[in-house]
Amino acid sequence: MRRLVTTALVGVALLGSREALAADRVVVLYRGRIVEDGPVARVFTAPRHPYTALLMASAPSVQHDRPLSVHQLRRTAADPAPPSGAGACVFAARCPFAVDACAVQPPLAPVAAAGADRWSAACHRHDAWPALARERAAVAAPR
Ligand code: SF4
Repeated sequence: MRRLVTTALVGVALLGSREALAADRVVVLYRGRIVEDGPVARVFTAPRHPYTALLMASAPSVQHDRPLSVHQLRRTAADPAPPSGAGACVFAARCPFAVDACAVQPPLAPVAAAGADRWSAACHRHDAWPALARERAAVAAPR
């Protein structure tokens, strides 16, 4: 099994690379914490952590086939203030989908069946945020 580990510094460069295409699984880290771990094909197609999705949206694509844009995944001034504090989700300060429950760091928990397709994410809203993201404007509002 080949596993790809990606972080903020190398993530965008790795996505779509030869290394990514050859890997079976991908592990995504944010500030030293695993936020998503799953099969490359599924994580890259429909990430379940907002940070993974932001990495995907930030990666260059000649086919312009990213399912979500950066603007749908970044906080705006219209978003409510996220929970803060030492125990909050590590991504809360950047997450537009944060709710009160995000004041507590979620564990890495399964989002799909066990076995070869074992897939986990550390997000309280792994089922809800993709639909919320699709409802957000895909481009930045004009100033
Ligand atoms: S747990 Fe909350 S703040 Fe953290 S990534 Fe998920 S929705 Fe965003």
